[in-house]
Amino acid sequence: MSAKKYEIRLHGVAASPGIAFGRILRIGGDVVEVEKRTIQADQVAVEIEKLKIALAKSKADLQEMYEKTRASYGEEAAEIFSVHKIMLEDPMVVDESENKISKEKVNADFAFAMVMEKYIGLLRGMNDELFKARSADVIDLKRRVIRYIQGGAPSRLKQLKEPAIIFAKELTPSETIRVDKSKVLGFAMDFGARTSHATILARSIKVPAVVGLNNARDILNDGDFVVLDGDEGVCIVNPTRKTIAAYRKRHADYITFEKKLSSIKGLPARTKDGKDIELASNIEFPNEVDSIVDLRGDGIGLYRTEYLFLAGDRQPEEEQQFEEYKTIIEKLNGKPLIIRTFDLGGDKPSEFLPMPVELNPFLGVRGVRLYRGAGHDFFRSQLRAIIRASAYGDVRIMFPMIACVSEMRYCRTIMDEIMSDFKAKGVRFNKKIPFGAMIEVPSAAATADLIARECDFLSIGTNDLIQYTIAVDRGNKNLAYLYQPYNPAVLRFIRDTIKKGHQQGAWVGMCGEMASDPLMTMVLIGLGLDEFSISPVSHLLVKAIIRHVEYAECENLAQKALALSTSDEVKSYLEDVYNKKFKHLQHFPH
Ligand code: PEP
Ligand code: MG
Repeated sequence: MSAKKYEIRLHGVAASPGIAFGRILRIGGDVVEVEKRTIQADQVAVEIEKLKIALAKSKADLQEMYEKTRASYGEEAAEIFSVHKIMLEDPMVVDESENKISKEKVNADFAFAMVMEKYIGLLRGMNDELFKARSADVIDLKRRVIRYIQGGAPSRLKQLKEPAIIFAKELTPSETIRVDKSKVLGFAMDFGARTSHATILARSIKVPAVVGLNNARDILNDGDFVVLDGDEGVCIVNPTRKTIAAYRKRHADYITFEKKLSSIKGLPARTKDGKDIELASNIEFPNEVDSIVDLRGDGIGLYRTEYLFLAGDRQPEEEQQFEEYKTIIEKLNGKPLIIRTFDLGGDKPSEFLPMPVELNPFLGVRGVRLYRGAGHDFFRSQLRAIIRASAYGDVRIMFPMIACVSEMRYCRTIMDEIMSDFKAKGVRFNKKIPFGAMIEVPSAAATADLIARECDFLSIGTNDLIQYTIAVDRGNKNLAYLYQPYNPAVLRFIRDTIKKGHQQGAWVGMCGEMASDPLMTMVLIGLGLDEFSISPVSHLLVKAIIRHVEYAECENLAQKALALSTSDEVKSYLEDVYNKKFKHLQHFPH
């Protein structure tokens, strides 16, 4: 494209800070990694056989998913898998693919992809929403069969030789986790939001990310040189020399400032008037623990263990989990480790658990709701591993998506059963292992006092609390304007949760992304939050703010912020205060 000789600025959402310079590698999602190859006549039978085997394997998968789902959730939920299976038997698909291979002498994955594309086009063209929606199913089927035809050929992510900026329409958490982190300079995506899990992951591996780019897929090609600005949410294609020079300077300033900031590493997170705040970190991967130890903070306030389940090709065994948890807690050397039991579902589907196909997965079977059904055995084995690890340090347990007291009691009952079993067998563990609830559903926030009575602590999960309070999908780009962390309803829920938790003698923390937002640090201190569990990238900045303020002024500021009527009013008030008070921190994006 001739326009590509010019610099193009693509605007999206700033999802992980920092600046990266590099070449684009497109992967995943709709970008089907299929190449057209011309085959010899004697290869036709081989390619047709590959197709047949792939179809048979896919059908076997679908049958298994059908049976598991039917056993856990009933016929209606399972039906989709039998529909998929029937599609794979449709002569239009099978015969046409074989014909293409033999007549056009092309490879099986290419032939099959072309046929499915035609199918998808037909469905999309229909004047019926139900058929249009079915096209997503067909895309899924296409990928499944192609993966088998290619014999599990390593994805482009695995083949990464040179460091690159990864572009995808949208990365799933399981795709993100398979990335070779040493080769990734940054992520750019058409979809996604600041709190979608792929971007949380980008922050955890400390590379810049820009999401919500909308139509970058029409512009970006493999090998394009870009500057990715994760602070402002911009991806610059074919940058001019002037642009590159300006960004190199900004990058250098940032690095210098970061070095300066690291001088407060060993100092306490204490306000000027002596109030101590617990400053813990969020982790996604066990191997992040070394950098957490290096920060010299207050341990780990959220270990998102679902990544154990998304990473491998098998479900993790109790023993493997126990070893992981034990390694982490030993490295933390006396500091706390809060392990959140797995929170699959929503935008984190599992390849191992039969998940029902639901119209609204975020309002469906996710988090603690899975523990009574298909996730029950996992839940037990995870709890056993965590409780055993508690013999080696300050391990605590946290349950996700608690919506009411009875769910908390359910978790407690299973914990008690495991502990009795361990006692009988003489297994070592902490009999007073602290446990708590995430407050991320409005019903839990409204009854935080009742929930706090049942446990030792509460941790506010703002990523979900915002989406459920305002009824806005946290990953939906069209509604990004309504995903408002500063919305007065959200602020009131936070204020009330802290107050209600304290009334019942529970400490209250926050592990959602809001805890990493420097604009909110003073408000949260002022509302009496006991613990902040934040992305490691924001740790020192938040600490610098804490050390620069007085508790009394934070209380005052929190009251003023809570008296405002709209999210925009709160945001501009907080920006005003921030820009005046923290001039010395301006090199850091917020
Ligand atoms: C949250 O919802 O704020 C949270 C910390 O959990 P997750 O982002 O993993 O859903
Ligand atoms: Mg959550």
